Amino acid sequence: MAETMLQITDLVSSYGSIQALKGISLEIQKGEIVSLLGANGAGKSTLMKSILGMVQIDGGSIQFKGQELVGKKSHEIVPMGISLVPEGRKIFIELSVEKNLEIGTFFRKRPPERDKELLEMVYHVFPRLYERRTQLGGTLSGGEQQMLAVGRAIMSDPQLLMLDEPSMGLAPLVINEVFQVIKKVNEMGITVLLVEQNAKMALKISHRAYLMNTGKIVVSGTGDDFLQGDVLTSVYLGGRKEDQP
Ligand code: ATP
Repeated sequence: MAETMLQITDLVSSYGSIQALKGISLEIQKGEIVSLLGANGAGKSTLMKSILGMVQIDGGSIQFKGQELVGKKSHEIVPMGISLVPEGRKIFIELSVEKNLEIGTFFRKRPPERDKELLEMVYHVFPRLYERRTQLGGTLSGGEQQMLAVGRAIMSDPQLLMLDEPSMGLAPLVINEVFQVIKKVNEMGITVLLVEQNAKMALKISHRAYLMNTGKIVVSGTGDDFLQGDVLTSVYLGGRKEDQP
């Protein structure tokens, strides 16, 4: 039977007097890849920040495996098993690849054997990080830096991994690789919440998706529903299907 990992109900979040989320309800089942789509400013990043306790929450509930997150701080939430790969990657350019990965463990203390196991897992999924483990983070290509950011997040041993625009600023070939990496991470047993502008590619690897507009969910469905239907073209891309390439 499906096990609910995250259940968000009527969530309202703001920045001071600006209400960015206006009553969001969604759920993520264990083992899923769920995409959150929507134009700039729709509130996708704010939703992820709300889950991590980084913005002001005015109402509603966020339950992670049955435990309420609203009212908790990030340093309490991360150890529960949630990790975020932020937009823009934010790796440490003057530290080696391996040091960058070790930093991922600081936020969630695990037995040293588990840290070693996680590092081996990251090197297994990303052989290129293993090859470059002594190199400085700043010398990696954009795609490799994104892999490092994902690897660092895995080092905190998450059950739910959130990725904010992982394909941003990357060349098309590298973007392909990043989506394959997300699939691999999911196959390792990690549930994924993905925010992407690159809707088609995100939907191809997603079990389900939600479309947001100005702080609300406007459509939800399976990845295939979105890809086969007119949802993307009519609502998101703002045109008719026949007009799309
Ligand atoms: P993007 O792809 O541009 O990041 P998004 O869907 O992630 O878009 P959010 O960044 O969550 O959107 O923004 C939602 C709303 O909240 C927008 O109206 C935005 O202007 C506002 N907002 C975001 N961050 C802040 C902030 N730090 N202070 C004030 N308003 C903010």
